[in-house]
Amino acid sequence: MIMSEKCKQHVDSCRFCWMCHHICPIGNATGQERNTARARALGISLVNREAIELEEIMDNIYECCTCGACVHDCTTGWDPVMFTKETRLQAALEGKLPEYINTLVANCLETGNAYGKTETCSTLADAIKAHSAKKDTLLFLGVDAKFMACEQANKAIKVLDKAGVDFTVLENEAPSGVQLDFLIGAANETKAQMEACAKALGEFKTVVVYDPNDAKAIKQLYKEYGIEVNANVVTYTSFVAGLLKDGKLEAKNSGKAVVFQDPYQLSRDLEETEEAREIVMSYAVLSEMLLNRAETVWAGNILMAQYMPEVIKLVAKRRIFNATSVGANAIVTACVAEYVSLKAVAEDVEIISLEDLILGE
Ligand code: SF4
Ligand code: SF4
Repeated sequence: MIMSEKCKQHVDSCRFCWMCHHICPIGNATGQERNTARARALGISLVNREAIELEEIMDNIYECCTCGACVHDCTTGWDPVMFTKETRLQAALEGKLPEYINTLVANCLETGNAYGKTETCSTLADAIKAHSAKKDTLLFLGVDAKFMACEQANKAIKVLDKAGVDFTVLENEAPSGVQLDFLIGAANETKAQMEACAKALGEFKTVVVYDPNDAKAIKQLYKEYGIEVNANVVTYTSFVAGLLKDGKLEAKNSGKAVVFQDPYQLSRDLEETEEAREIVMSYAVLSEMLLNRAETVWAGNILMAQYMPEVIKLVAKRRIFNATSVGANAIVTACVAEYVSLKAVAEDVEIISLEDLILGE
């Protein structure tokens, strides 16, 4: 396998040190050694030394959610996300992707989303139509909200309406490219999607990005790939926190006791942790889970549930256990993928989005 010298160095240096062994959400859910960062590095290193074939490790390569908890905890500075994504790219270039990944990639290229969806629900379609006029501000919904959680997308629109924001939602929103980046890394196809999206966003002065996964891509990955966006790009959480500060949304604290699930894309990648807490504390009483802010534990997503649904259920259940361990029976989410993942397995715990809190729903 062709791999950059930088990645090879990280692969060969990251092994058997145990420092990040305990924080991998997938490894903790499955209890399997193969799911830890150091085991993945060992597999890649065996391929690099031609001891095994690339195909033999590809399932394992797709069992990493790229949450970066290991990168964050590695005091020696090795980056398992980097070598995992480069291995995905190389497998794509060599035609060695697992079939279930090929299907998701083909969907991304054909329909712009890994799920192969072409239509959203009718209530969201109507809400989008009602906001189709061109304004200075764009609300960017993202494919997870638009096609897999349209009620949440609808609520995101309602919150901005409630605050009197004048904004556009695009009927034919370009995909941010973040799904392709997850599936095949920095391939030409990924960059082409990102460039098309950046161009569309450049038509607006301000772009409010609803999904933290898209926000991470647009605010961080685009820069890494040399793609410029000629707009002020802000996360939905920071924009809504600003609306509260400016008195455009009325804070009504219900006294409800909640914990907050930090999306790693906001807390680790974009270093945004307090804006969502300002919103939560305006409507409820916040306490913290033991692993919070940059130490957060990923709670699952919709994309990986397409090919490893049982593991994603276990991941979400473990995060719920973290919440109930501190006596919480309500978890507030700021990421639509985590909302869906937690909601799918929640039994005695309430899963509430920030929009639910604000709208009192
Ligand atoms: S990423 Fe760092 S902490 Fe984790 S196994 Fe590799 S060297 Fe150890
Ligand atoms: S990026 Fe996340 S899922 Fe992947 S090995 Fe690191 S901690 Fe585990």
